[in-house]
Amino acid sequence: MLTESMEDYLESIYTFIGEKGGALRTGDLAEAQGVQPSSVSRMVKKLRRLGYLTHEKYGGITLTPRGRSMGRFLLWRDQMLRKFFATLGARDEADRLVESIEHFISPETMTYMRDLVEYFEANPAALTAYQEYRRDRLTRL
Ligand code: CA
Repeated sequence: MLTESMEDYLESIYTFIGEKGGALRTGDLAEAQGVQPSSVSRMVKKLRRLGYLTHEKYGGITLTPRGRSMGRFLLWRDQMLRKFFATLGARDEADRLVESIEHFISPETMTYMRDLVEYFEANPAALTAYQEYRRDRLTRL
């Protein structure tokens, strides 16, 4: 089981490296996460022990296939949740909402949210009806 912080790191590493592989310096990661390089080193060690990445001394961080597939999921979950909230009308606060809940959403739950987003994409009239419903509701408050 990954902790919330491990998930944030893996998501961030995957955002940097993506599918193409390649190495990432711990200094760049520290800057991106807004933390001290020593915290990054500690986390990198943990993730390496769990088999998500490799890290050569004086070299960069590379994701293993296991790390890549987890990173791919974490980034997808982040982006799909952003889309979910934006679609439902929470455009401005989408970032904040996503960061507060993403770690607790299981892959199974994600499929329901994805399907709803895709349903609205495929049915613009349904989305308009939902938006009107929501506008009415807000004006009634
Ligand atoms: Ca995130």
